[in-house]
Amino acid sequence: MSADIKRFTNSTPMRVGVLGFGGLGQAAAKLIAPKSEMLLVAVADLKGYAYATEGLDVNKCVNAYARGSVGYLEGGGMLSNQSIQELIENSQVDGYFLALPNLPNTFIASVAQMFMRSPWQGVLVDAIKRTSAVEQLLTLKTDFQAAKITYLTGCGATPGLLTAAAVLAAQSYAEVHSVKITFGVGIANWEAYRATIREDIAHLPGYSVERAKAMTDSQVEALLEESNGVLTLENMEHADDVMLELAGVCDRDRVTVGGVVDTRNPKKPISTNVQVTGRTFEGKISTHTFTLGDETSMAANVCGTAFGYLKAGIGLQRRGIYGLFTAAEIMPQFVR
Ligand code: NAD
Repeated sequence: MSADIKRFTNSTPMRVGVLGFGGLGQAAAKLIAPKSEMLLVAVADLKGYAYATEGLDVNKCVNAYARGSVGYLEGGGMLSNQSIQELIENSQVDGYFLALPNLPNTFIASVAQMFMRSPWQGVLVDAIKRTSAVEQLLTLKTDFQAAKITYLTGCGATPGLLTAAAVLAAQSYAEVHSVKITFGVGIANWEAYRATIREDIAHLPGYSVERAKAMTDSQVEALLEESNGVLTLENMEHADDVMLELAGVCDRDRVTVGGVVDTRNPKKPISTNVQVTGRTFEGKISTHTFTLGDETSMAANVCGTAFGYLKAGIGLQRRGIYGLFTAAEIMPQFVR
């Protein structure tokens, strides 16, 4: 290892927080625990938060959450119905991963505004999915700059990892004809990822975000039962389109996203991939395909990417660069 790399690795770890402690939030905390460059100091859920400057014990947080909230954690836990607001006021955190449900579709933007109203300055990363949700954040760009917040949006798997891969693939072409994202997700039970599944249901014909949010758990179960636990999604409203358009790769109508989600089997029903078709400067039409390994879970692909962007965002913030960026504009950095 070069002296430069060692110096960077040995520097004080970045103090990070995870908002939302459901399926993705817990996976994020577990993923970050063995890393030396980042220290998990803050977590929050709907009913409380936990904060410890020396770092949180992930297993103890998971146990506290199983009792109802991370707020039950002994030493650092606090029960609260305004957990995010109180955490912002009572902590020192360099950057947060927002593993929160975007239900309603304006929720994440409202959380971002909560940060902007506080004196806090730092980095926020989301794994938001809908085009309309990213568009709300785009309207806040100058507000983020004024608040000295570096906000990176669409930093999960899709949008996120696959969108960034599409930007890389586009480099071979003079013109990009299509970007086709197909994802396969396998989870053992839907309760582990309630928000993800509700937000997926909202894409089914005849459903909306409001309708999916209003469904009771037993209604969700009855719907899943109709298709043996499998959701098949086509032509989804996914922000990969606006992100690739903004990055200048292609018009948004050339981007399509669909997938299959099995809520009763952790094995992926199909391989997740992005196919980028275009014309080279010599006039040849070709397709690049980037396929994720079938053994990689949704949690691994979303949370790994989110922290890669969090590290990149902290780098920008330290150089005085604030505002709103998408996963298609910035290269994620690998967290050691
Ligand atoms: P979940 O339902 O398992 O957990 C949500 C968590 O948020 C819970 O801990 C809950 O207590 C907490 N929460 C809810 N409201 C809160 C509030 N007001 N204050 C504080 N905490 C609150 O959710 P999940 O399945 O882990 O999904 C999280 C998000 O990740 C969803 O929006 C989903 O769409 C997104 N996601 C993105 C991708 C991607 O590739 N981009 C993939 C999967 C999931």
